[in-house]
Amino acid sequence: MNPSLHLLIIGNGCAGTETAFAARQNGWSGPITLVGEEPLSPYHRPPLSKAYLTGQASAESLSLRGAMTYDKEQITSLSGRRALHIDRTHRSVTLCDGSLLTYDKLVLAMGGRPRPLPLAEQFHGHVDNFHYLRTHADADAIRSNFGAGRNLVIIGGGYIGLEVAAAAVKSHMNVIVLETAPRVLARVTAPEVAAFYENVHRKAGIDIRTSEQIERLECSADGKRIIAVLCANGVRLPADLVVAGIGLLPNSELASEAGLLVEDGIVVDAELRTSDKAIMAIGDCARHYSHIYERSVRIESVPNALEQARKAAAILCEKPPRPDAAPWFWSDQYDLSLKMVGLSQGYDQLVMRGSASQRSFSAFYLLGNRVLAVDTVNRPLEFNLSKQLIIDRHWVDPSQLANDDIPLKQLLSPTT
Ligand code: NAP
Repeated sequence: MNPSLHLLIIGNGCAGTETAFAARQNGWSGPITLVGEEPLSPYHRPPLSKAYLTGQASAESLSLRGAMTYDKEQITSLSGRRALHIDRTHRSVTLCDGSLLTYDKLVLAMGGRPRPLPLAEQFHGHVDNFHYLRTHADADAIRSNFGAGRNLVIIGGGYIGLEVAAAAVKSHMNVIVLETAPRVLARVTAPEVAAFYENVHRKAGIDIRTSEQIERLECSADGKRIIAVLCANGVRLPADLVVAGIGLLPNSELASEAGLLVEDGIVVDAELRTSDKAIMAIGDCARHYSHIYERSVRIESVPNALEQARKAAAILCEKPPRPDAAPWFWSDQYDLSLKMVGLSQGYDQLVMRGSASQRSFSAFYLLGNRVLAVDTVNRPLEFNLSKQLIIDRHWVDPSQLANDDIPLKQLLSPTT
C-alpha cells in the first residue's frame, strides 16, 4: 500500500471506529483519521438503553477502545467535530471548526438520529425531562430523571421503548408505554412474539397501551418540565419523565449535498462504494443490495455496522472480504435474550418451536418452505444454526420444524 494515502472516516460510532482499526490490521499504512461529532471518545451504544440506565454499567466500561490504542495504531481521533461539507472535486472535507481535511479514501459511517416526534419539537432541548435515546448524553439525562415511584411515559414500543421500560421498572418507576401500532415491536416481529413480550412487560408491572395516539405534551407554567402526556382519547397521563423512541433517520444529508445517490440511506454497491468510487458508506446510514433477499436494504444494527466496517477495511486494503452474513439483531430485556436473524418482511407462515411459557422458543418466518428470518428467545444454539439456515436458503418441513423433539440440526436439508 502507498504509505502516503490518507483514509478519512466520518462518524466515530462502532462502524467508523471498527473501520479505522480493521484497516490498520489489514495493512493500511498511510494516515487514518476518525472524525466524530460527539465530544466523547468512541463508545458502545447498546448498553445505553440497558445496563447503563440501571447503573450496572459504568461510563468507563462503555469505551470502545482504550485511549492508548489510538496512538499505538496511529489513528488520529478527532471528537467533537461535525463534518459540514464534502468537496469531491478536491477530495476534502470541511469540519465545523473551519479545518479542512483532504482524503484519498473517505468512509461515511454517520449512523442515524432519532426520528423526531413532531408534537415535541418545541420542547426537546428546552425542558429537562423529555428525551430521545441515542447518545451518551441522552442516557445521562434520562438516568438523572430515574427514581423510585416516579412516572415515566415512553412513546414508542420498539427496541428503545421496551428496553428503557425494562430498565425503569427495575428502578421501581411507574412505567407506561404508548404505541401507535396495534402491538409492540410491530416493525420487527410477528404478532405471536409481540404478544409474548407484551405479556412479559405487563407481568413486570408495565402499563402497555397499543393503538394509542398522543395529542400533546403538557408543560409546567415555568416552561421547564413536561408534566403530562395527553392522549387523543382524552386520557391525561402525569409524567415526571417522557422518553420517545419512535425510530431512526439515517444521517445522509452530507452525502446528498455532495451529490451522492441517497434513497433512505446512502446507496452503495456490493463493495460498499457510493456513486463516487473514492467514497464508501457503511452501517445505519448506508443502503445496499442484499443477495439473500434480492432487494435493497438499510440495516440498523451493531452487528451489521461491524461486519460492513471489516468488509470496507478489507476492500480498502485490497484483501478479499469475508462473504456477507445474514443480518442479525439482539435485545436484552429482563432474563430474556432475544436474538433475531434475517429479515422477516414478506413471510407467509410462522412456525413456533419450543415453549413461550418456559421462556425458551424460536419463531421461524417462512415464505413457502424457505426460512426468511428467525427470532430466538433464550435459544443460543438455534440462533447460531439459523444464521446458516438463512444464508444457505434452506428449505424446511414446517411440521418437523414445529416439533421441538427433533434437533434443528437434523432438519437442515440442502437447498432445492
Ligand atoms: P423502532 O424499533 O423503529 O420502534 C419505534 C416504534 O415506535 C415503532 O413501533 C413505531 O411504529 C412507533 N411509533 C412511531 N411513531 C409513534 C408515535 N408518534 N407514538 C407512538 N409510537 C410511535 O425504533 P426505536 O425503538 O426508536 O429504536 C431506534 C433505533 O435504535 C433503531 O435503529 C433500533 O434498531 C436501534 N436500537 C436497537 C436496539 C437493539 O437492537 N436491541 C436497542 C435500542 C435501539 P411505526 O413502525 O408504525 O412507525
